[in-house]
Amino acid sequence: MIMKPKIVVLGGGESGVGAAILAKKQGFSVFLSDSSTIKPEFQVKLNEYAVVWEQNKHSEDLILLATEVIKSPGIPDKAPIIAKIKNVAIPIISEIEFAGRYTDAKMICITGSNGKTTTTMLTYHILKSAGLSVGLAGNVGQSLAFQVAEKKYDYYVLELSSFQLDNMYEFKADIAILLNITPDHLDRYNYEMQNYVDAKFRILQNQTENDAFIYWYDDPIIQSELQKRTIKATAYPFALDNKPGMRAYIENLQLVIQTFKNEFKMPVDELALSGTHNTYNSMAAGLSANIMQLSKEKIRASLSDFKGVEHRLEYVSTVRGVRFINDSKATNVNSCWYALQSMKTPTVLILGGTDKGNDYKEIDRLVQEKTTALVFLGVDNSKLHQFFDGKVASIADAGSMQEAVEKAYAFAKNGDTVLLSPCCASFDLFDNYEDRGRQFKSCVKNL
Ligand code: ADP
Repeated sequence: MIMKPKIVVLGGGESGVGAAILAKKQGFSVFLSDSSTIKPEFQVKLNEYAVVWEQNKHSEDLILLATEVIKSPGIPDKAPIIAKIKNVAIPIISEIEFAGRYTDAKMICITGSNGKTTTTMLTYHILKSAGLSVGLAGNVGQSLAFQVAEKKYDYYVLELSSFQLDNMYEFKADIAILLNITPDHLDRYNYEMQNYVDAKFRILQNQTENDAFIYWYDDPIIQSELQKRTIKATAYPFALDNKPGMRAYIENLQLVIQTFKNEFKMPVDELALSGTHNTYNSMAAGLSANIMQLSKEKIRASLSDFKGVEHRLEYVSTVRGVRFINDSKATNVNSCWYALQSMKTPTVLILGGTDKGNDYKEIDRLVQEKTTALVFLGVDNSKLHQFFDGKVASIADAGSMQEAVEKAYAFAKNGDTVLLSPCCASFDLFDNYEDRGRQFKSCVKNL
C-alpha cells in the first residue's frame, strides 16, 4: 500500500484519538502527540489501531514533518507548538473538519453560548426515537471521527463549541442551529468579542439555500451580526412572540412551528423541559425535526418524554415536601438567571464557587423575587456577601456540599424548592461541575 502523507494529531483525548483512528483507517501515516499524560483507556485504543503516539511532550522534529495537523479543541492557539506549526505553514484543522471529509451523512450542528448540550441531546432523542440511523458527536458522546471510522450513521447531531468551529473550513452543516451569543471564553479570543462571534458564525460557512439556519431571533448580537452578513441558507428564526417571519413561536399556550411545508403545534405545558430557556431549546430541536419532515406524532412524543440532561435543571427528588433541583452546570450568572426564572415555588438557592468576574446585578431582581434564603458554597464567599447581604432574609455559608444541603433543607418549608445553580466554576471545592452535581444528589439522597 502506498503510504499517504503524514497526519499529526495534537491531543490524546476523545477527539484526538478518534481522529487518529480514522486517519489510520484511511491509510495515512499517523503520529499523535500530547503534552500531558494520555488516559490509560485511550492508550489502549491507540495501540489497538497501531497508532504511533507520545505523551508528556511534543517532539517538534516529528510534528513539523506533518502535511496536516489535527488539533484538539482544548489546545489554545497560544500554545508554543501551534505557533511553530503556523510558522512553517502546515494547515491546522479540527477533528470535525477531518471527519467530515469521509462521510456523506447529513449533519445537524448546534452551537451557542448556552444550551448546546441540552438542544443537542433533545434533537438526538427526537431523531433516534423516529427510527433514524443517527450518531451523537462533537462535545458530547464519542468523537465524530471515531463514529465515521467504525459506525457509519446516516445522520449526526453535533454539538460544536467555538473552539471546534475555529478550525473548520470546508465542512458544511445541513442544518445549523445558533442558540444565542453572550460573552464567553474571551481569553481564547484576544479578549475581542468579535473574534468569538466570528467563530460562532462559522457554523454557516459553505451552506447553500438548500440548507437550514435556525436561530434565536431576539438575540441582540445575532441580530446585529446578521445585518452585516449575507446568509445563503434558508433562515428559520424563532422567538417567544409571533412576529413576521418567525418559524417557531408561542401562541395561545401552544408551541407553533411553521416550516414551509409543515405546521406543527403542541401545548407548551406538555414540553418535557420547563423554563423559557428550555422553550427556546425545544423550538430549535423541534424546528430541525420538522424541517426533516419527521412524523409530527413522533416529534410531539419526543418533546414531551425527553428525560433532560444530567446537571441541567435536573430534578433530584422531593424530601418531605421540599423539591431538590441540580443545575450544577450553571457556571455563569446568565444560566442561573434562566434557572431562577423557571422556579414556580419559593426557592432556597445554593450558589458560589470560583468566581469568573461575575456581575450579580443580572440576578438581583430575580433573587429578591424568588428566593427566601441563600446558601453560599465556596472557599471565599466575600463577594457574595458584599452583594447579597441585607437583600434576602436568611443567608448562610457552607464549606462542603453536605453542609450546604443540610442548611438549605433547614431553611426550606414544605412546598419550597432547593436549587443548586452556582453561577460559578466548581474548582475551589470540587473536581468539576459533574462532581459538584453528583455530590449534591448524593447528599440529598442521604437526608
Ligand atoms: P452548553 O452545552 O452550551 O454549556 P447546557 O445545555 O449544558 O449548555 O446548559 C448549561 C446551562 O445553561 C444550563 O444549566 C441552563 O441553566 C442554561 N441554559 C440552557 N439553555 C439555555 C438557553 N437557550 N439560553 C440561555 N441559557 C440556557
